[in-house]
Amino acid sequence: MKNGTVPQPSTALAAYGWDSLLDSAFAAHAERGLVPGRVVRVDRGLCDVVVPAGADGSGGTTTVRADTEDVFTRDPMRVACTGDWAAVDLTPVTGPAVRALLPRRTTFVRSTSSKRSEGQVLAANVDFAVIAVSIAAELDLGRLERFVSLAWTSGAQPMVVLTKADLVPDSTYLLDDARSAAPGVDVRVVSAATGDGVAEMAEALAGATSVLLGQSGAGKSTLTNALLGREVQEVQAIRDSDGKGRHTTTTRDLLPLPGGGVVIDTPGLRGVGLWDADAGLTQAFSDIEDLAGRCRFQDCSHTAEPGCAVLAALEDGSLAHRRLDSYRKLLRENAWIASRTDARMRAEMRREWKQRSAAGREMYERKRGGGHRKVY
Ligand code: GDP
Ligand code: ZN
Repeated sequence: MKNGTVPQPSTALAAYGWDSLLDSAFAAHAERGLVPGRVVRVDRGLCDVVVPAGADGSGGTTTVRADTEDVFTRDPMRVACTGDWAAVDLTPVTGPAVRALLPRRTTFVRSTSSKRSEGQVLAANVDFAVIAVSIAAELDLGRLERFVSLAWTSGAQPMVVLTKADLVPDSTYLLDDARSAAPGVDVRVVSAATGDGVAEMAEALAGATSVLLGQSGAGKSTLTNALLGREVQEVQAIRDSDGKGRHTTTTRDLLPLPGGGVVIDTPGLRGVGLWDADAGLTQAFSDIEDLAGRCRFQDCSHTAEPGCAVLAALEDGSLAHRRLDSYRKLLRENAWIASRTDARMRAEMRREWKQRSAAGREMYERKRGGGHRKVY
């Protein structure tokens, strides 16, 4: 365990999101003479890991290129990925090596389109999944709900950010709509152009690990630059005719924020889809789930049953038809993805999800002082 008076090498990693829970998770590795590090990029068997530069944490950090052979696994869900906390051996003459990965708190997974449906981990240990939505484009609430479900599924806390506020005279209604599509989620408005809302957002993300999700052109790169206080991400100047925009690549996938914490921006994350989102869907549509719990019949399909609380809410206008349709669509889509996924992996993911949500809960309470961001 960490001794409060003795400086630890891990102190230098606080800027990258290291905390006291990690100190205890790392204790056994420290005894073996390994140093803690955070994976900032993975590249075919090697990864860049940021490690403390000095033995007492006073020397800042340095990035080393490390071998990952020791933690190699054929399971794509378990390979090292950006955001992982690693136990690094700096002593081998052949160069640094990752000896172990610490248990993940959250995981962003992309389903691959290969025949054998398998997931691919895109980012680990993400605290906030920031969903960027341009306020200047027509608000697609169905898409927003999909991203919110994905965020809940990963174990991260969703945050919705309506971008480009300078382009609309009044954002009140849009803000209300977005809030109704994302119950229990912090929804805010920013403009990277004027800087409005950026400092408040930076404050909310300080010390934590965040990812920015959302459609191409939503303003993620511009917002990332505004949060970082420098031009790191290349903003797209040219849009493709299909509106998808160009993909800009970055040299590093994990970018430290001036106020502590990091933003993870891997190219793959930007096109992330839905993956076995059972748990996340239930949370994203907690309002409907609450209603369903009040239906007279436990197996109510909310189509024509007497005493159906969902139909009653549709009737009195407290639940929008659009939102129920969106929930049904995502449930169907999810069932389809699940049917392509092999059962072993599903069981594995569910087990991990349970562990993650327990760890995540502890973390939020610790980091956020048990305030309004409590997840469950
Ligand atoms: P990304 O694809 O989500 O990373 O989006 P970009 O950051 O590349 O931005 C897409 C376009 O929106 C660019 O032309 C930006 O200049 C523009 N943009 C981004 N943020 C703002 C903003 O706050 N206000 C205005 N007016 N334009 C913005
Ligand atoms: Zn019902």
